Amino acid sequence: MNKRTALVTGANRGIGKEIARQLADAGLIVHVGSRDPVDGQRAVDELGENARLLVLDVTNVADADSEAAERIGALDVLINNAGIMTDTAPPTESDVESFRRTYEANVFGVVAVTNAFLPALRRSASPRIVNISSGLASLAWSTARFPADGASAAYRTSKAAVNALTVLYAQALAGEGFKVNALGPGPRATAMNSFVGGDPAEAAAGAVRLALLPEDGPTGSLVAWDGSPIPW
Ligand code: NDP
Repeated sequence: MNKRTALVTGANRGIGKEIARQLADAGLIVHVGSRDPVDGQRAVDELGENARLLVLDVTNVADADSEAAERIGALDVLINNAGIMTDTAPPTESDVESFRRTYEANVFGVVAVTNAFLPALRRSASPRIVNISSGLASLAWSTARFPADGASAAYRTSKAAVNALTVLYAQALAGEGFKVNALGPGPRATAMNSFVGGDPAEAAAGAVRLALLPEDGPTGSLVAWDGSPIPW
């Protein structure tokens, strides 16, 4: 029997690498997305026999990536994990260029990758898409739970757009058996967030749960790593 397949973007380090590791350990063939082939190959070597390198810059999805999608055949799981935070400025001190760069990776990248790999996902019997979002994108939490200082405006609004895209993709693909959900991984000790944070593996387990959802699982939801709902 053919093994199930997954693609994780930005899987050469951080949370993405942990997600790739856990999916590979669960027996899936995992395409390790990395914009740097050397970094990506290093991760593939570490993750073992179920890992495959896929050189993929989410800001520059090209015909070659659609051809890669064809070669993969059926894709069961897409994890849109790659993301950047360029600065922590509030909107009053942000420049448009920082918004543009952030949106290129965090928002346009999700649309470009998802649409390039949709034909492969449509060949799966139970396609799953997981968008890695952030609790910082929650408008409800921004006023109630986090310091309401307007910080990290480009990043937070980009992830709010990812949340909206999650709902809209879930609606658009509902009739085709897709489950499309977003995960707020919580603060994790990675290069992006070196000052506070827990084990990325814990967040990865939350993503893997969404990646392997049964047919009666939710779609169009935003949840934390432990499965608890995050308010929009
Ligand atoms: P890291 O900075 O450790 O990893 C980010 C990953 O994204 C790297 O693999 C990086 O590749 C990749 N990436 C960035 N830009 C591109 C691009 N254009 N094309 C392909 N890959 C790209 O961050 P985390 O692991 O912490 O973040 C993973 C996800 O989790 C992100 O979406 C982030 O927003 C989200 N998140 C993280 C939290 C945290 O506390 N860490 C909290 C909430 C959400 P490269 O090595 O080439 O730069």
